[in-house]
Amino acid sequence: TSTATADIGVTGLAVMGRNLARNLARHGHTVAVHNRSPEKTHSLVTDHGYEGTFVASESMADFVQSLKRPRAVIIMVKAGKATDAVIDELIPLLEEGDIVVDCGNAHFADTRRREEALKEHGLHFSGTGVSGGEEGALNGPSIMPGGSEHSYEKLGPIFESIAANVDGTPCCFHVGPDGAGHFVKMVHNGIEYADMQLIAEAYDLLRSGLDATPAQIADIFREWNRGSLESFLIEITADVLSHVDGRTGRPFVDIVLDQAEQKGTGRWTVQTALDLGVPITGIAEATFARSLSGHAEQREAAREVFPTTNELAWAADDREGFIEDVRKALYASKVVAYAQGYDMIKAGSDEYGWDIDRGATATIWRGGCIIRARFLDRIREAYDENPELPTLLASPYFVKAVSDGVDSWRRVVGDSARAGVPTPAFSSSLAYFDGLRRRRLPAALIQGLRDNFGAHTYLRTDTEGAFHTLWGSDK
Ligand code: NAP
Repeated sequence: TSTATADIGVTGLAVMGRNLARNLARHGHTVAVHNRSPEKTHSLVTDHGYEGTFVASESMADFVQSLKRPRAVIIMVKAGKATDAVIDELIPLLEEGDIVVDCGNAHFADTRRREEALKEHGLHFSGTGVSGGEEGALNGPSIMPGGSEHSYEKLGPIFESIAANVDGTPCCFHVGPDGAGHFVKMVHNGIEYADMQLIAEAYDLLRSGLDATPAQIADIFREWNRGSLESFLIEITADVLSHVDGRTGRPFVDIVLDQAEQKGTGRWTVQTALDLGVPITGIAEATFARSLSGHAEQREAAREVFPTTNELAWAADDREGFIEDVRKALYASKVVAYAQGYDMIKAGSDEYGWDIDRGATATIWRGGCIIRARFLDRIREAYDENPELPTLLASPYFVKAVSDGVDSWRRVVGDSARAGVPTPAFSSSLAYFDGLRRRRLPAALIQGLRDNFGAHTYLRTDTEGAFHTLWGSDK
């Protein structure tokens, strides 16, 4: 109709939707805006109307009518039931060929289900991962759109215009069909869990090993941020550690309750990895470490009967050497966590036929998102060189990085075990690395046990076929 002027619409104007709509408007797109409760719509236009062209509607019907066809409607509501409620409301209002985009943090299985359902109505569905929090949504997020090629033809130029941009390349690419975008976003969040846990372990080691103040450790992280570890998370670690609590004048990190919360994307990543059979031990340890931190009663009970031994500054003699060991251990563990994350993307891609380009994934994570890091350039190069790389650990750059760090890594894991400082992610990453490299794994014994108690059969090293031993006949 003649009233349809908007290029794209956003429904759901809490912090994320509001900022995404502003970002779109700032880039010259005419943005239809709508929210279940109209106050948020009005306040957006009142506060930010000058930033671009918004078309505000109170009803979903008016909102849809304000969009040029084929319509593109971004849903940015609380992930879960709310998304389904909004989709149900939209279906009768939309027409064949229109595109529904879910930019919330949906589970990829829900995205696959919704895509199927919308197809029945002749509608396209793009499950799109958006990373970078509210700041990213406003100033340039990393965007991971899934869905059909057809929908990307319309959405691509719009998303690429508002995404973060690194060296002239937008942090957005068409990840793959149906759930691919939300799957990759989920793995991104899982890697974020691992990254944060590794940083936290490094901090804990430095603090107990050096008997240093949080502000002194902040300086170490600041220094690290000038080298290969350079990343957003390392940068803000320095900020958080040097922050002083206004109320008490004490280091901020000392007045925060030491129980980490989670919204669930780490858990989804681990659950999915179990289904796919991918050992993402770094992400799993990070997720479980948060759970452990929350079990206050158990922690107290254990502390009472096993008094802590980890108060010693054991690195007093060679402080510089110790700091360098921790840095190298952190880097090597981080390589493992990413290698596992990329294995998971490959496994998901193979399972669902998504054909995800892992190098391109590294490219769009270089900016806008929480795990943005210099390191991602190295990952992109590794997949550019060999798109079928069996593990990131085998690419020449990472072989060198890990080989350089492996002695430090062993010292740190060994010393922390002796001192009683828990390093679940550092140690399990090292165990994973050693597991991959071991010539013969004790899995052979496990196969023997399985065959013994359950006649599960085994393969042999010297000949083809499945074998079963008649256990007990030689007794
Ligand atoms: P939120 O707190 O997750 O959700 C609030 C929004 O959802 C409001 O607009 C609310 O409308 C709407 N809503 C809730 N139930 C609804 C229903 N049944 N029908 C229609 N609308 C409903 O908002 P957010 O923090 O901006 O996040 C939005 C999405 O982005 C979520 O999926 C989130 O997981 C994802 N995300 C968030 C971040 C972040 O840093 N916050 C980062 C990446 C992705 P009313 O105003 O009417 O209540």
